[in-house]
Amino acid sequence: MIIANALLDGLPVDIVTDGAVIRRVTPHGALSPTPDSYDAHGLAVFPGLCNMHSHAPMTLFRGLGDDQPLDVWLNEYIWPAERRLDDDGVYRGTLQACREMLASGTTAFNDMYFRLPAMARAVEASGIRARLGFNLFGDGAELDDSAVADLLDHPTPHVTFSIAPHSIYTVTATGLRRAAEACEAWGLPMHIHMSETQKEVDDCLREHACRPWEWLDKVGILDKLGGNIIAAHCLHLSDDEIRLIGAHGITCVHCPNSNLKLGSGYRFPMLELLAAGARVALGTDGSASSNNLDMIEVMKTAALLQKGWRGDPTVVPATQILSLATLGHTIAAGQPACLFLADVGSLSDLVYASHGDSVRMTMVDGEVVYCHNQC
Ligand SMILES: [Zn+2]
Repeated sequence: MIIANALLDGLPVDIVTDGAVIRRVTPHGALSPTPDSYDAHGLAVFPGLCNMHSHAPMTLFRGLGDDQPLDVWLNEYIWPAERRLDDDGVYRGTLQACREMLASGTTAFNDMYFRLPAMARAVEASGIRARLGFNLFGDGAELDDSAVADLLDHPTPHVTFSIAPHSIYTVTATGLRRAAEACEAWGLPMHIHMSETQKEVDDCLREHACRPWEWLDKVGILDKLGGNIIAAHCLHLSDDEIRLIGAHGITCVHCPNSNLKLGSGYRFPMLELLAAGARVALGTDGSASSNNLDMIEVMKTAALLQKGWRGDPTVVPATQILSLATLGHTIAAGQPACLFLADVGSLSDLVYASHGDSVRMTMVDGEVVYCHNQC
């Protein structure tokens, strides 16, 4: 199909998609319209946003236990509520999350939760893309669940998977090793929360006499999986840990709104991680801790925090924050046909002056899956 008259970097263009790929981008008017042309009416076009850390069903818990410390919030509010969740709740929460993400320009998300078959059904119903992580606790007994193997044997078009040990403070060394073995056996990445709070670091030092990333290394996870690890948060890192993360090419996911709301910290070492060789991405975290799934808001918070705590307005310009939020994707021939149209004049407007509600259309793999006020 042709997306006609979209504004790309200030210039009107026509974008030709072929299945799930952008075939070419030409100045507007150079092509004859086709019956399936989509008139963008001069709206700005951007590559689809990738929300690299979320817990989609937690849209059901939005507002639950607001303004509590992380351990109180988890132990007294979230985990008791999660024990009452059934497949229907997980499906409804995930579908709501998918709709909110599509309506704010996100075309793919990287999640961790449980009851994944119900989540996968919601993802397919929405048309978004997702990587769903099997959440593990303790010794990782969840890996014995036959539903896991069944799901992996019957993948659906928009869903891939990861193994997601929750964190080093909720999963034992045995559980971490089992998770890594499962990742190797099935060819899946590992998705884990790391270095989210100072308490996590202090507890690790007391229990294991080393810092969290050094513990992960000691247990053998880093050598086994290398760059196949996606780690959410990574706020409290020593210089040695940054070197370790960089040397293994690990992806660190910055979730500034969740970190700020839970009082976890704000000095995400973005530039140091990138310089060391790590990959950096952005995420919202679940709606119970960030209260929305708006990646446009995340871009602004992430960029402003870097400028603020470094005392330098020149760092992390809008172009860089968009690149991190889209995993480096662009609007160009050969790129995925995952994009959105927004009612903004420029990239500056998108990052610094708008929210997810500026989005007017979202396309995933060449399919228009969201239109503001219907198509
Ligand atoms: Zn999380």
